[in-house]
Formats: sequence, structure tokens, C-alpha cells
Amino acid sequence: MTPKRILVTVPAAIAFAAASFAMGPGAQTPAVVQIAGAIVPVFPADETDTPTATWTPMATDTPAPTSTPTSPPTPMDSPTPTRTATRSVRAVRVPILMYHYLSVPPPDADIYRLDLSVTPDTFEAQMKYLASAGYHPIRISDLTDYLLNGTQLPSKPIVLTFDDGYRDNYENALPVLKKYKFPATFFIIAQFIDDQKPGYMTWDQVEDLAIEGMEIGSHTLDHIDLRGKSRSVQASEIAGSKAMIESRIGTPVESFCYPSGQYDAQTISILRSTGYLAATTEIQGMYQSSNDTYQLRRIRVRGSYSAADLAYWIKYFTQSGK
Ligand SMILES: [Zn+2]
Repeated sequence: MTPKRILVTVPAAIAFAAASFAMGPGAQTPAVVQIAGAIVPVFPADETDTPTATWTPMATDTPAPTSTPTSPPTPMDSPTPTRTATRSVRAVRVPILMYHYLSVPPPDADIYRLDLSVTPDTFEAQMKYLASAGYHPIRISDLTDYLLNGTQLPSKPIVLTFDDGYRDNYENALPVLKKYKFPATFFIIAQFIDDQKPGYMTWDQVEDLAIEGMEIGSHTLDHIDLRGKSRSVQASEIAGSKAMIESRIGTPVESFCYPSGQYDAQTISILRSTGYLAATTEIQGMYQSSNDTYQLRRIRVRGSYSAADLAYWIKYFTQSGK
């Protein structure tokens, strides 16, 4: 089908971030550098069988000063960009599934561990369902690239995220993901990895994931509750983990995950100033907006969920508007 053409304008700050992102040393996708304030044509995700991409006008604002890209913009198959003072939001409904442990829980597991543990067999069945239902897994960075730059998404996009960096993710999730050729995003606790804490991945395993095309995101250095912490403590956890992971995998870390879903306004401000482009919360839902890339919504996959339960909940959130 011919994608419906809609016009979306890009505020200077987002365009600048997008330009930086697109031209960053680790940029893997073709650079799409947008001029601040330019009207850019956007082809939303397939609207026939996928959550509808929408855009919502924001209150008009004083146009911010234009930042000039340092290299020539990539030509776009679009009308000549035109200056405008209007700001807008790009939004899309994409489910982001939240996993933790990927193993049979130990016999003495408490209710929390049970709830956080999906067995390898169940995970396999869930991935089989996603494939048969026509879902196309992408990484958080791909979703961010759509929200900030308009880079096209596949039909029925979905994101698989794994919190905490457990070793069973490498041992049990990776083989299934490779089998289905599904990319995913792994949020690791950098200091736990560096300390070789039992039950967590090693740096070699993290590097392997990255080589396999998985995105490695930060889940802080020590998994502390960031909310209400001093600026220096938060900055150390946020910037320190980014630097540590980047020094290992050699590509920029631009996605973050709040430990226990806790954060405050200062957390978001530090994420923005240290080069992260997005962060996932534990807010349940699938409405994702360029205005809120630091508050991406997710769907918790509980240990009790069968593949059919997962299908039910994805459908529930698809229809809920959340
Ligand atoms: Zn966590």
C-alpha cells in the first residue's frame, strides 16, 4: 500500500538531538538529518494491521534558534523543507514487553521471583506466537529513531526488553531470539557485571549480545532507586554506567531503564544532558510519544503468562488507548 503522507514538524531541540544521533560514531542506520523547524514528510507504520501512528499538534511556541548540521543533510524524498514555527509530536502505539529472568525459578523462589521468571519453554512459545501473528521486533533505539527522526518502522512493531542483565538471558533468551531473528534490548546493571556478581552476565556475554545485533542499554551502575537522590549520585549512576558499557561494546548507549521504574524530574534532565535519547518506565501501556521518550510505557510479562495470555494482554493494551 502507499503510506499515507502526513506532515510533521520538528522542534529545534529534537532536530538537533536527531542530527547528533544520526551522525554519532555508532550510528548504524542511514543518517536522516533534519533541519530544525523543517517540515518533514513522515510515513507512518503500516496502518492496516498495526497501531496507528499519529501526530498531535502542540501549543505553538517561539521558534528556537536553528542549529546548523555540521555535515550536509542526507537528501530526502520530500518537498523542499520549509521553515515553520509550529512544533508537533510524533506518536505511535508500540508494545514494549518487559522481561526479567528467563529460566525455571529455583524451588525456593518467592512470589516476586516467580512473577519475574519466564521459563525458556514459555518464552519460546511466546516468540512463536509473535512470529505467527506477524509482529516485527525492533530495539528501543529503533523506536526512538522513529519518534525523533521519523525513520520508518516495520508493520506490527514490538519491542522486547530484558531488565537487570541476568545470565539466563544470555543462556536461554539469546538462542531463541537468534532462531526467530528477533532483536531485543538488554538493560544491564553495569557495576554488577563489572563485579562479576553471580547470576549476572559477564562482559564477554554482553559483548556477544551486542555483536548479535542486540541493543545494550543502561540500568544504572548499582540498581539504586534514583528518585529523590542528589544530582551527583544520579549523575554518577547515569553517566558512569553509560561510559562503562560504551567502553566495552564500543557503540553509544542511548537507552536507559529506571530501576524499579522510579525517577524524578532531575533524572530526566540528567539523562538528556548525558546523551541518552530514551528511557523505559514500568508505566503499563503502549502509547509512545516523541514528547515523552524518557517515559516509554511497557507491558509487564508475568511469570504466569502463557503465550495465549501474552496475546491477550497485547490485544488488551492495543485496544485500551493506554
Ligand atoms: Zn531492574
